[in-house]
Amino acid sequence: MKKGKADLLRKDTGILKHREWRGISDTVYDYSQWCRLWGILIKWAASHPVQNVKAVMRYRWMFSYITVAAFFDRICMGQRGAGLRAARSNLNYLASDVTKTLTTIFSADMNLHPGSKKARELNKKIICFDELLPAILGKGFPGCSTILFQEYPMYLPSLIHQHSPVHYIEQSELYGLPADVCPLPSFEAGLAIEDDFPKIGCCMVTSNMPCDGSIMTTMIQERRIGLPSVPLNVPLRWKEDEVQDYAVEEIKEAISFMEKHTGRNYDWDALTEACRIWNAQNEAKFEKWDMNKTDIPPHTGSSAWLYRIFEHQAVCGEPAALRNDLKVNRILRRQVAKGKCPKTIRHRAIIWNTPANNYANFNNWLLDCWGIDSVCEMIDIHGTDLIDTSSRESMLLGIAGMYQTSTMRAHTKGGSEVMLDDLWEKYEEYNADMIIMFDQISCKGVGAINGLFEEGAMHRGIPMCRVRQDLMDPTSITRREMRNDVNVFMLTVMKEEPLDASLVDFDDDKSW
Ligand code: SF4
Repeated sequence: MKKGKADLLRKDTGILKHREWRGISDTVYDYSQWCRLWGILIKWAASHPVQNVKAVMRYRWMFSYITVAAFFDRICMGQRGAGLRAARSNLNYLASDVTKTLTTIFSADMNLHPGSKKARELNKKIICFDELLPAILGKGFPGCSTILFQEYPMYLPSLIHQHSPVHYIEQSELYGLPADVCPLPSFEAGLAIEDDFPKIGCCMVTSNMPCDGSIMTTMIQERRIGLPSVPLNVPLRWKEDEVQDYAVEEIKEAISFMEKHTGRNYDWDALTEACRIWNAQNEAKFEKWDMNKTDIPPHTGSSAWLYRIFEHQAVCGEPAALRNDLKVNRILRRQVAKGKCPKTIRHRAIIWNTPANNYANFNNWLLDCWGIDSVCEMIDIHGTDLIDTSSRESMLLGIAGMYQTSTMRAHTKGGSEVMLDDLWEKYEEYNADMIIMFDQISCKGVGAINGLFEEGAMHRGIPMCRVRQDLMDPTSITRREMRNDVNVFMLTVMKEEPLDASLVDFDDDKSW
């Protein structure tokens, strides 16, 4: 058989034997950015060596971060030209922001510094947010850090290392929680049961997002974490005007709560500035979407949706994130102006439903193996309305809208009309010719309308491939099984031959 990309991978582990050859310019660029990543990691490790070693020894999930260089390589696999440059810029920005936040967390962590006065003082300036609440509201406390509480021990590790959720999911099941709950809330509950959340913050803003599983896990976390907390409830049916006053009142209550616990007044000018920056970040995203609608989509796939989720949740209103966006857009624009497309695209797919964290580079495989470019993804589409910064009320209304259309929430819980109608609209808008529909077996809300997707696709004559997955639990559905769902569909329904036959079937169950 002709040599292909799978020959680069070690048997069973799926780990790279050596770096990928992408032509001189792209290989040199990729290597230089890999070195840059190591520079960021070494700088972080050396800045607080004892504290960081303690953190690795104390928290099981910290092990996942040690494998981050391999994760970035997987996310960039097969990328060339502007797509590669955009991916590496996004990922290295993410690495520099996450390492800074880890330093803030560990410097204040009472698990690592029991009885420390310095850590206690730092905690007075840390507000914890449920990870599904975009951090923009915290910008009104410029002297404080807003930390998305579960983002660093749970969400990011689940992307970086596919096996990281397994231990914590088992703990929550051993504790007696139902085994059929979605792995995301189950992982969070397991962290709380194991006391593996850092002990930080002066207060916590919780939420009912995104779903019933998350509401249940919030109750367990609240008991174990013990911080003063306020629930910021976000209405489900965000298209309905009647819910907006309630949504704004909830945010006002959360602001009063934070003022009380930080002892600071809310700084509305700082919030206005953050909203303006977020609007500019969003406009940069709109431009990327417009470019992806052309015949030469420059920035698609895993690094695009991963970055968008992180930007929307953690670094919304952050000047450094906006600078990265503008830089990436310049790179993409140049390639589009030249009319170049350094990838082989046979199909343009809309990817719908929540992607699998345990196979974050699934998009790269789709493109490399079958030439399926994921030109638009449901998970990418959040908070798409600009915030009106003309008054305090209009800003709160805008933030309420952003929260209601947060990650997973906008579609999976916004009602069947949002989940369905948007899919058919995006299919037309992006000139797609197929749909990849994730069948996330634990997401019961979406599971309930599976038949409507089938019916709608059949009625419109759209080829739709169902891919089973379990968000972040590789023990229920493996990466290999996900690939097999696509292989069977492409061979039987689409009557295609793979672009790279070596990638059709390989074993990466033991990979990070
Ligand atoms: S995938 Fe579905 S069930 Fe899981 S957290 Fe998201 S919305 Fe909830």
